Amino acid sequence: MPVTALLGPADLPRAAALLRAGELVAFPTETVYGLGANARDARAVAAVFAAKGRPSFNPLISHFSEAGAAFAEVAADGRARELATLFWPGPLTLVLPRRPDSRIDLLTGAGLPTLAVRVPAHPLARELLRLAGVPVAAPSANRSGQVSPTTAAHVLAGLEGRVAAVLDGGPCLVGVESTVLDLSGPVATLLRPGGVSREALEAVVGPVAVGGATAGEAARPSPGMLLSHYAPGLPVRLDARCVAANEALLAFGPPLPGAGAVWQLSEGGDVVEAASRLFAGLRWLDEEGARRGLHGIAAMPVPEAGLGAAINDRLTRAAAPR
Ligand code: AMP
Ligand code: MG
Repeated sequence: MPVTALLGPADLPRAAALLRAGELVAFPTETVYGLGANARDARAVAAVFAAKGRPSFNPLISHFSEAGAAFAEVAADGRARELATLFWPGPLTLVLPRRPDSRIDLLTGAGLPTLAVRVPAHPLARELLRLAGVPVAAPSANRSGQVSPTTAAHVLAGLEGRVAAVLDGGPCLVGVESTVLDLSGPVATLLRPGGVSREALEAVVGPVAVGGATAGEAARPSPGMLLSHYAPGLPVRLDARCVAANEALLAFGPPLPGAGAVWQLSEGGDVVEAASRLFAGLRWLDEEGARRGLHGIAAMPVPEAGLGAAINDRLTRAAAPR
C-alpha cells in the first residue's frame, strides 16, 4: 500500500475520485471519522475489513448525501420517512429491509436481508458523498479493538499506509457514534444508543424497544444477531479435502474435482478477494444446489491470516448445527 495522502477541503474531488475507483478514504463525520469505501464495490468493502483487521464481518453502515438516495436502496415506511425528515442529516442510522434491486454489495450488509443507512451532517462528508455519487460504506476509521478516532491524526495513528487518503476536517463535534434504530420489523428497536436520544425517537415513533449491542465500539452484535446473518439452507461441511458429486463446492485456490457446482472464492488464494465473494457465493451455491438437488456445501480450507479469520468465523457459523 502506498503512503496515505493527507487531504484537505480543496482536495474533495480527488477524495471522491479515489472512493469511486475503489480506494479507501477516511473522512470526518459529525460523530467520528469513518473509513469509507464504495458500498457497491465488493473488493473495496472487503478492503475495509482488511484495513481494520476485523476478525468477523459486522454489517457496515452505508452513507448517503441525501435521504432519496438512501431510500432507493431500502424499503422505507412512514416511520422511517418521518425520522429522516426530522433527524437527517444527522447522527441517526436506520436499519431497514434491503430492496431486492439494491446494488449495495452483500458484504456491506454481512449477508443480512436488512441494510443500515444514514445521511451524515458534517459538511465535508456531505460534499464528499455528493461528489462521489455512490453510497459509501464506513465503519469507524480505527483498527479493530481500538477507540474510534475523532481527529485525522487519530486516523493516521492507526491506519497510515493502510488507506489511500485521510480527509482532514478538524475534530468531530459529536464524538460518539450514531444511534442505530432497527425499523425492519413492527417494533422499533434501539440497537445502539448514540447521537440522537431514545426519548427524541419515541416522541416520533412511540415506544422504542432496546436490543442488540449497547456499548458502542466495544460492543459486538449479540450472538442472536450474528446467527441472523445469511445462513445457507444446505448444510456446510468445513475443511473439505475431497468433494462428492452431490455436493456444491466453495473453492479457494485450484478447485477439488468432482463437485456438482463450484463457486470460486479466489483462484489465486487471495483472502481479500475471497471475502468480497463470500456472501454472494453462499447464496449462489444454496440456490444452485437446491436447483440441482445437491445435499450440501463443501468448503475448502481458507488460511487464518488476515481476512481469512473473518471468513472462517463466518463459515464456522454457517456450519454450526441449527
Ligand atoms: P460501526 O460501523 O462501527 O459504526 O458499527 C455499525 C453498527 O451498526 C454496528 O453495531 C452494527 O452491528 C450495526 N448495523 C449495521 N448494519 C446493520 C444491520 N443490517 N442490522 C443490524 N445492525 C446493523
Ligand atoms: Mg467502530
